[in-house]
Amino acid sequence: MIVKNVWPLIFKENVQHDWSQNENLRESDAKISLWPRLLGSSRLSYRIVSHRRPDEFRRSMGYQYERVRRENMSWIGKKKLAFIPVYRPSYDPAPPPDWAQQIARRIYFDPDALGVDVSLRNYIYTTSYGRADLEGQVLPMVEVNQQDVPVDALAGQYEQSLRNQGFDAAAIVMLGGFGAGSAQAAGFWARFVMVEGVGVWAMELTHVLTGYWDLYIVTENLGSFDNMACACGTHPSAFTKQKLGWLDASAVATHMGQTQSYDLHTLGLVQPPPTGRSTAVQVGTGGNFLMVEARQKVDRFDARIPSEGVIVYEVLNPDADPDPNVTQPLIKLRTPAALAPGQVFTSSSGVTVQVTGALAHEQTSLLRNSYPTSRGRTPRRTPG
Ligand SMILES: [Zn+2]
Repeated sequence: MIVKNVWPLIFKENVQHDWSQNENLRESDAKISLWPRLLGSSRLSYRIVSHRRPDEFRRSMGYQYERVRRENMSWIGKKKLAFIPVYRPSYDPAPPPDWAQQIARRIYFDPDALGVDVSLRNYIYTTSYGRADLEGQVLPMVEVNQQDVPVDALAGQYEQSLRNQGFDAAAIVMLGGFGAGSAQAAGFWARFVMVEGVGVWAMELTHVLTGYWDLYIVTENLGSFDNMACACGTHPSAFTKQKLGWLDASAVATHMGQTQSYDLHTLGLVQPPPTGRSTAVQVGTGGNFLMVEARQKVDRFDARIPSEGVIVYEVLNPDADPDPNVTQPLIKLRTPAALAPGQVFTSSSGVTVQVTGALAHEQTSLLRNSYPTSRGRTPRRTPG
């Protein structure tokens, strides 16, 4: 479950703006110009940092900067996270004496049955290919003696102080049962319990830090092929990784013409792909397109995918949410089982994906036919 955040945060985006235009920036808005003189252009690109709400900011600027989004739409670099154990005396068993250490282990070193580290930090670091990182600090236990502890239960008491100390987000960690996972999308607070796995912890913190929504709100969703659909600790899909800033657009080939062969570099391997290979293929552009990528059990995280090979999924809408802080893609998995060499998938629009072979850790797929682009699909918002 996600709760929409009501408070503004810093946001940044590369924007185009006429140099001569009168600017209605406040002192609290900082502006960093990028290369305007060097490019000799009357227009320039720069990043704006504002502490104001994006909608309020745009209004004051005469509705310029439609594309302005929060900086935290991506998770790049180290995020400072607070983990606050919350104990409910009337509802929980006695808190373990080493609870703080248990949480620290979950963050930094959490060996599974095979002795492989599946800690939160290793998950984020591995699935982001080293681009995202975190530093977790476990704060003293807090008692909140009510059955339902809202995700922002400690906001009034802690949030401003934590922000002042440089924290990017905070999580309430509890002792209850499964299903506690919750977060403010593009906000500050997450909530989960000790029995929930690294997939839930990572999903909730991703909601908070990036505003990226749940993918399970549609049927036939990506399931175990994207942690933002399953919360089961697998790699996010190539589409999600692009949105989070973990995979460059250059790693994804765009298929526009007729028959073409591609060598796919398995998503779970270190990126970017070597020369001559692509991590994924996007078929078509615009609001509705197909994505093709190879998935194999190459590490402890993607060891949890249900089948190996090439998957095809359809992005019905890359972002159905008008809120600039939130990204809510509508994605359907079109190959419930990954395609093995020799298998063929044909989409409703006539695109054929044929897996022609496999090497040790690569898949080759063949795409046929061009894909008609359809636009204007705006499915209704579903709370989740
Ligand atoms: Zn979620």
